[in-house]
Order: sequence, then structure tokens, then C-alpha cells
Amino acid sequence: MEALTNRVKPVERPDMSFWERMYLPAVFKGMAITLKHFFKKKVTIKYPEETRPFSPVFRGVQVLNRDEEGRERCTACGLCALACPAEAITMECAERKPGEEHLYREEKYAAKYEINMLRCIFCGLCEEACPKDAVYLTETFAPSNYQRKGFIYGKPELLIPDPKTDPEGFAKSKGNRIENPLGHGNEH
Ligand code: SF4
Ligand code: SF4
Repeated sequence: MEALTNRVKPVERPDMSFWERMYLPAVFKGMAITLKHFFKKKVTIKYPEETRPFSPVFRGVQVLNRDEEGRERCTACGLCALACPAEAITMECAERKPGEEHLYREEKYAAKYEINMLRCIFCGLCEEACPKDAVYLTETFAPSNYQRKGFIYGKPELLIPDPKTDPEGFAKSKGNRIENPLGHGNEH
């Protein structure tokens, strides 16, 4: 085919030498690069046996807190939902009935409390906004799930264990907690 312009520059392709045709130098060069990496410090770790330490500013999945007597701290005031930039939190408020004082700390409580983990950006503003030390972020990942509805966390997923029935689980949940460096909301 005839060129439309005269800008075409023919490329000279020199013939391959004997060693180039053998491909051995290129193979050895590749192996040398691989060998060099054998003795370098590994960037991978043997998860789950080994885990990396979390960054001090890591914020993981939320939990709903109980007090030392096992009562739910949340009063369904809605401040966390209001502070949430991702609109990930919804709740329904209910009034505590006589005889339920051992279950709920205040006169009002969250009959339903949900966080949509697909929306959450783990900013921590819900924890900052809570006046009752009821919601906080932990050093735990949100586990994977095959269904979108599996990422809507309700009270069964969010509430930490009751210290009366599961003191070990309660202590462990407290241990996972990331202390707020500003000290907001942790003093109630
Ligand atoms: S961490 Fe941020 S985005 Fe997630 S629920 Fe709390 S306020 Fe919303
Ligand atoms: S978690 Fe805290 S801020 Fe959110 S509704 Fe409950 S008490 Fe209010």
C-alpha cells in the first residue's frame, strides 16, 4: 500500500545474534531478578495466623455499648443519625416500661437500630456525636457477605455481649474499643 504522507520512517531490524536466538541470556536474567527477590524482606504476611497491627487511627465496624450492669446505653436520641454524613443510621424509639429498668438505662431506648455498612465510610462522627457513650467504632472489620441485606446491621449484630451472661465477651468487646483521643462521650 502506498503511504499517504512521507513521514513514514522504516525501522531497521538487525538480525538476532546467536545468543539472542538461544534465549538463554534473557532466561538467566529473568531468573536472577526472581532470585534477588527471594532474599528481600517479604511484603506479604501469613494471614490469618499473622496479622498486621492496626494504625492508631483505624476505625472499624461499630458496636452498641452496654453499661456495667448490661443495660443498653442508647436512648434513641438520633444524634448519631443526624451527624452521619452517609445517612447510614436509622432507628426507632420506644419508651421503657416499668420492669424493664434492668434492660435499658434511660426512659427511652432504640427498639430498632440499624447501620447500613454499605453506606458507612467509618468516619467516626456517630461516636463523636453520641452523648451516652452508646456507639463506638472498634478494631474489627465488617465481615464479607454475599447479599446486600447482610450488610444491614441491626441490634443483634451491633450490641456487645451482656456482662451478666457473658463477662468474657463483654470484656473482649471493651478491649476492641478505640479510645477517643479527645475523650468525648466516654465519660458517662
Ligand atoms: S462511621 Fe460515619 S458514616 Fe459510618 S455510621 Fe458512623 S457517622 Fe455514619
Ligand atoms: S447511639 Fe448515641 S447518639 Fe445514637 S441514638 Fe443512641 S444515644 Fe443517641
